[in-house]
Amino acid sequence: MRPFTWLAPDTTQEAVALLREHGPGARVIAGGQSLLLAMKERTVGPSHLVSLGAITGLAGVTADPDGALVVGAATTYAALTRAALPGWHGVLSDVAGDLADRPVRNRGTIGGALCAADPRFDVPAFAVGVDAVLRISGPAGDRTVPAAEFLRGNGLTTIGQDEILTAVVLPPLPTWDAVVFEKFRHRVFDAAIVSATCALRHGPDGSPVAIRVTVAGVSATPTVLVVDAASAGRAAGDVAAETVLPDAADEPTRYRRELVRTLVRRAVDRARQGSA
Ligand SMILES: Cc1cc2nc3c(=O)[nH]c(=O)nc-3n(C[C@H](O)[C@H](O)[C@H](O)COP(=O)(O)OP(=O)(O)OC[C@H]3O[C@@H](n4cnc5c(N)ncnc54)[C@H](O)[C@@H]3O)c2cc1C
Repeated sequence: MRPFTWLAPDTTQEAVALLREHGPGARVIAGGQSLLLAMKERTVGPSHLVSLGAITGLAGVTADPDGALVVGAATTYAALTRAALPGWHGVLSDVAGDLADRPVRNRGTIGGALCAADPRFDVPAFAVGVDAVLRISGPAGDRTVPAAEFLRGNGLTTIGQDEILTAVVLPPLPTWDAVVFEKFRHRVFDAAIVSATCALRHGPDGSPVAIRVTVAGVSATPTVLVVDAASAGRAAGDVAAETVLPDAADEPTRYRRELVRTLVRRAVDRARQGSA
């Protein structure tokens, strides 16, 4: 690991100013679970690390007046797991509690997962799946961006070098009547090979009027599919498999296509049955 200077600002504004002052060599560090690994492997070698650890208000969960759930970017998986979140917001706690292992969950943050933008990570897939919005602070002030527009590729996002992700905002509960997250991994502490999120809204007569399916792990960014609201799981799974992996010439790709088919079918069927 190359030598670096550790900076621990008290406010987001101060952190932004430090990132600006030290330029491209400066990097934000949250839980360090992805960044420290990259530094050890020498794929990155920052001159300055700007820690989010001392910034008050960047960790924790609050509700906006309209019922949106505001999750501070520096909230750890462990804290999310302990949060008693109502309705489908609670699926985020389940997602956070069912990834990696305890040491990673104790340190890793929701904001770090989004900014690392690894296609295998669960929280970015879930955030896109429920149409979450991200809050970002930078030298020009604050801005918001939908999670689907934030993720741009493997390790790529639209955040600037001198900007900080401050919160992940889940839409108010009535936006969805059911949300289901399904993933497949070989061992319990492995990252997912494929995940599928289904977010479903019912009409006044109780039948689905919107089904949003998001598949992650098969491409650099999650793929969102708007599925016919009348679709049962089997049809949705077939559509997703053919859309996300149309050319499955080799065995590994065919395997992933079957995973997509199965996970989407399961997610949609569970959502139609009213899970969460
Ligand atoms: C052994 C192991 C197993 C894992 N298994 C899984 C798994 O099964 N599923 C899964 O989803 N994930 C898994 N992960 C990944 C884990 O979720 C991420 O490493 C972690 O969430 C990253 O968060 P962090 O706070 O540690 O980010 P850091 O490592 O501190 O930062 C990651 C990147 O984001 C930037 N950054 C961080 N926070 C901000 C911010 N607020 N604003 C701007 N930039 C920021 C940093 O500069 C850096 O580029 C695993 C990791 C490990 C080490």
